[in-house]
Amino acid sequence: MEKEDPRIVYSLGNNLYLNITNKCSNNCVFCFKNFSKGVGGSNLQIKEEPTAATIISELIEKINSKNWTEIVFCGFGEPTERLDCILEVTRWIRKHYGKPLIIRVNTNGHGYVLNRNRKVIKELKEAGVDKVSVSLNAENERIYDLVCRPKIRNAYQSVVEFIEKAVKHLEVEVTAVSLKEVDLQKIKKRAEKTGAAFRPRQLIQFFW
Ligand code: SF4
Repeated sequence: MEKEDPRIVYSLGNNLYLNITNKCSNNCVFCFKNFSKGVGGSNLQIKEEPTAATIISELIEKINSKNWTEIVFCGFGEPTERLDCILEVTRWIRKHYGKPLIIRVNTNGHGYVLNRNRKVIKELKEAGVDKVSVSLNAENERIYDLVCRPKIRNAYQSVVEFIEKAVKHLEVEVTAVSLKEVDLQKIKKRAEKTGAAFRPRQLIQFFW
């Protein structure tokens, strides 16, 4: 296990996950990569970002091994750091995989800051993404800066705006990690006001 090569494509239950980058515009106090080298027994510490072609070739090996419920862009970094890669891989899945499944992006919601002048939500939708799971993690900017330690300015506001745009085109789930610093009820209210669903997350799960 200790010597297992880093994984780009990994699975948990009925979902297939794509670990496309280790870069992130946050440095959350609870981030898995601060405590472990992987999730669910898969080493996610990739040394370099895989090309879309590499991701697709790994997908070809695994995509028909099960009837997957979802394919999720989620790993040790923020997927929208590589928007074009998400779009290319998603288009490939939609073109080559005939069975119905949900394609989801787990994101910190900084997509518009990381991709200036792009129509991020519209582009995701057009490529074939169904759903985004957005980590809001705080009821206000002060708490967000404390727990997510963003590397960009106005980060909290950019997440809120991302959610407001996303609910117009995609299924949206807002998440928050259960920490003593945050008020989950206030976050839930804020999420539901935008029309998004809310899912609290436990701090430790599937650690390796
Ligand atoms: S947004 Fe996600 S990947 Fe980025 S630091 Fe926070 S938990 Fe880690």
